[in-house]
Amino acid sequence: MFYYEIYLPINILKEFYYCSPLEIPEGVRVLVSFNRKDMIGICGTRFESAPEKDIRYKQIIEVLDQQPLIDSQLMSLAKWMGEYYYCSTGTACFAMLPAWLIPDIQAEVRWVADNIPEKYKELANAFSEGQAQKVSELRKKLKGKPVLQWVEKATEEGYLELNRKLSPKDKPKTVNYIHIIDKTVDPNSLPSKQKEALQLIYAKSKEEFPLAEISRDVSYSVVHALERKGIISIFPRKIEREFFRFETSGLKKVVTLNEEQERAIQEILQHKGHFQVHLLYGITGSGKTEVYIPIIRSYIQEGKGVIFLIPEIALTPQMVERFQAEFGDILAISHSQLSDRQRLEQWQRIAKGECRLVIGARSAIFSPMPNLGLIIVDEEHEQSYKQENNPRYNGRDVAVMRGKISDAQVILGSATPSLESWYNQKKGKYLLHCLNSRPLDIKLPQVQIVSLCEDYSQQMFSDELISAISFRLERKEQVILFQNRRGFSSYMQCLKCGELIKCPNCDISMYYHRDREEMQCHYCGNTYPSPRKCPQCGSYSFVYGSPGTQKVEQTLRILFPQARILRLDSDSARQQDIYKIMFRRMKDKEVDILLGTQMISKGLDFPEVTLVGIVNADISLNIPDFRAAERTFQLCTQVAGRSGRADKEGEVIIQTYNPRHYAIIYASKQDFPGFAEEELSHRRHLYYPPYYRLARILFQSADNNLLQEEMDELSQKVKNLLNTFPQGEIFLLGPVPAPFTKMKNLYRWHLIIKGRTTQSIKKAINTVLNEYKISSTIHYTIDIDPTTLM
Ligand code: ADP
Ligand code: ZN
Ligand code: ZN
Repeated sequence: MFYYEIYLPINILKEFYYCSPLEIPEGVRVLVSFNRKDMIGICGTRFESAPEKDIRYKQIIEVLDQQPLIDSQLMSLAKWMGEYYYCSTGTACFAMLPAWLIPDIQAEVRWVADNIPEKYKELANAFSEGQAQKVSELRKKLKGKPVLQWVEKATEEGYLELNRKLSPKDKPKTVNYIHIIDKTVDPNSLPSKQKEALQLIYAKSKEEFPLAEISRDVSYSVVHALERKGIISIFPRKIEREFFRFETSGLKKVVTLNEEQERAIQEILQHKGHFQVHLLYGITGSGKTEVYIPIIRSYIQEGKGVIFLIPEIALTPQMVERFQAEFGDILAISHSQLSDRQRLEQWQRIAKGECRLVIGARSAIFSPMPNLGLIIVDEEHEQSYKQENNPRYNGRDVAVMRGKISDAQVILGSATPSLESWYNQKKGKYLLHCLNSRPLDIKLPQVQIVSLCEDYSQQMFSDELISAISFRLERKEQVILFQNRRGFSSYMQCLKCGELIKCPNCDISMYYHRDREEMQCHYCGNTYPSPRKCPQCGSYSFVYGSPGTQKVEQTLRILFPQARILRLDSDSARQQDIYKIMFRRMKDKEVDILLGTQMISKGLDFPEVTLVGIVNADISLNIPDFRAAERTFQLCTQVAGRSGRADKEGEVIIQTYNPRHYAIIYASKQDFPGFAEEELSHRRHLYYPPYYRLARILFQSADNNLLQEEMDELSQKVKNLLNTFPQGEIFLLGPVPAPFTKMKNLYRWHLIIKGRTTQSIKKAINTVLNEYKISSTIHYTIDIDPTTLM
């Protein structure tokens, strides 16, 4: 008998052992039974004798693959992730595999003996005449009975025969379509909103079209009303979307590299073929892409594989286009619109070595690329590299670890590097390469900071910004306006009694969306009709909080009625292909003002944009988080960088109530090193990253009283924890209620641990988990290197 560690897709702290007479390679899928449930696991380390005596080991039921699906390097990475992020090795393994390879398991049983003993009569009665029966259905029929136990025993004793079927769950993407049933209705016979909607629908002069085509102008409830009247029907249609087939010009861009770019390439290639992390710091528009491309090419020419991470494919269409033109045939683009089947095919092509270059968001770091030579993480500072559910990894940090394991070179690129990476560079761990200027003598934009404090406190737009926009409209140049808040207003409050309209699940004030007359909670996503009168006092008058993109759009339309405005935020992004549309319309100059949230802050490169306005820079500054200044600096710098990217000189206006804040001043000068110096000294004094490591344990429960009792107890015990460490080795914050004390009906507390080293963090967490025995009714999650402490 051999014994194997088996990694299961569940979050456990200790892996399980199973046995088998077979020699099974590491990294193949096996079928095992866990708590009487069939599960797919990944085969891990093999032992020649039982790892722990006196245990009855369960048999591995079936070996599903001939060859490992996870190679030894990725396996090491999964083990590291399991340990570092406190997820199980299994959750890390399963995050690496395409969903198609993790099928549903259907167990079916059939009676094979003629005589059924009395003890199984109840089970037998639940069967339909002589047929095989799904175990899941038997469980439904016999609720509350020990069905799994019976099935297991009866199978062992030879009365039942058990068969398992694996069925991949490919959920095809669907889009809602409108089908016109009745073409003869007179719109004038309908209430006004329905009338408008029907006119729009008839005007399409198509029998069927995607609902999204009118969802901007018509609310869903109105469409639904038409459906109820039998005039139209709404139905889902399967689509196989080729979302990112951007119209490539087909032409490779030919640029003559400037001196700085040449130098960066030479310096980086000096370390070719070995693990080394490089930080490529280049101001916005300095041409980092042109540095990546020759380095990638030199690896591919040697038959090596390259992984290129970007924060979000949809937000960086120009980058994708550039890579398609350059590396078309051997390029795999991994994006969220792929169906499970397409994802599997792509995964297989990468594993076979047919695609030597993968470009994708954070999970692309797990591509089964053979002979990996180079990993690039573009915009390495981006928060979206962090996965906010289990496994809670940061794609950039995993990239560095994968580079180390595979002895591959790693390049982290950004105009606004994370302070962690900057600090590593200062300590000499990473090598720094700088691009300090824009090619072709293109100048950095002129930046003006406008204080909203005195003259404009009631206004959304300062005179400076208004006249700058007018000037661009006259000259037929384009404007980008940035407001990092979607919706109409950030809150709705009763004028009479001060009641805030809050989400009943989360106890957080909800956003007001005027176009849908809806309140939406931006945390749980639930929506409610906006109240006509105050639920508390019945008054009809409300004030609305600081403006979101929708309100900015409305004001813009009043101020500049002649301007063609396009709004891009996660509300409008639901419209199919909005990016593509935005992209084309910006290029063709069909848009005068592009207005959006952080979705427009990166990667866009439009030569005709000569003005960027930041409507309110304080939104990110006011977030109660130690990274607020860093975020604000990044956003302002990145957005400002969208201006003046060609021969026309650019201008940037930043509106703020904090005109003297260092983050805003350094951003206005695009001075990252200056900002980093100042921010690092704050961080050092407060024991924050990068000087200290951070971890957070979040405790959640639907029962507030129970949670408080537990937390009181924990806080008593945690006091002792500090004494077991040398002075200054760890700092504890809490347990205290998290800034969002209730979300999705769960009450939330957290304990934040700052540790001088990873080891001290680990020791502290282990002590909390092992010694203080958290009640099983409280759900806790551990987040290592959290990017948010909300
Ligand atoms: P960023 O550093 O902001 O990512 P990009 O790589 O997007 O900058 O480059 C900005 C623009 O400058 C692009 O249009 C790119 O084609 C152009 N560019 C980059 N390097 C050169 C060069 N050496 N000569 C001419 N144009 C260049
Ligand atoms: Zn009221
Ligand atoms: Zn909510």
